[in-house]
Amino acid sequence: MATRTKSGKKKSPKPARRGKSAARKAIAAKKTSAKAASAAGTNPQRVAAILAKLDEAYPDATCELQHANAFQLLISTILSAQCTDVRVNQVTQQLYKKYATPAAFAYANPAELEKEIRPTGFFRNKTKSVMGASKAIVEKFGGQVPRTMEELLTLPGVARKTANVVLGTAYGIASGIVVDTHVIRLSQRLELTRDEDPKKIEQDLMTVIPQNKWIRFSHQLIWHGRRVCAARKPKCAECSLETLCNAPDKTV
Ligand code: SF4
Repeated sequence: MATRTKSGKKKSPKPARRGKSAARKAIAAKKTSAKAASAAGTNPQRVAAILAKLDEAYPDATCELQHANAFQLLISTILSAQCTDVRVNQVTQQLYKKYATPAAFAYANPAELEKEIRPTGFFRNKTKSVMGASKAIVEKFGGQVPRTMEELLTLPGVARKTANVVLGTAYGIASGIVVDTHVIRLSQRLELTRDEDPKKIEQDLMTVIPQNKWIRFSHQLIWHGRRVCAARKPKCAECSLETLCNAPDKTV
């Protein structure tokens, strides 16, 4: 509405204000539509349908790193960074015969150990992590792999992903969700997260996935990523989640 100045002249509304208001409306609309899209991706019925399909396809999904106890699983998980589980299993078959206890790894000859784990890549850093974690387990935790996230994170070379693998698979403790490259890709394709950062993705997944499903869910996504939903050329025509998936790079 027009107003009058002190001298009585008519004063029109400033065009700049209309511009600002339009911009504000556009931002609000964008936020609303982002919220709506996010809500659509993570609504409980849709999440339950995804979980049911995964249970049907992979009822026995578990960690594919061979291990006889929590300590071996910890070492194998450290070795699996940037390496396939198949390769790690080939290496550890002999390794665990030679180094049968945490103390054996803790006080190993580093040059020898480097040579032995070389096929898994990044062998110098991995040797430091394996020996450092083993030493801490021997000297601070009485030779036992700790059972809490806080304690596990004090071990050299251990971040949340490794700690979640050990707690979930070796001890059955659902402390979080394993977020590896497959879990990142699939949770984005299935619209369970909009984040890129693994820590934030884990938080998003912990919000939408019921805690009693956390352990199996991460293994199921990893299995689906390895067998069907590959990074390049996902086999969407064979995918049991196809009707629930709106990924932009779907191949059907
Ligand atoms: S439909 Fe394709 S992109 Fe979507 S989850 Fe299945 S394989 Fe992956």
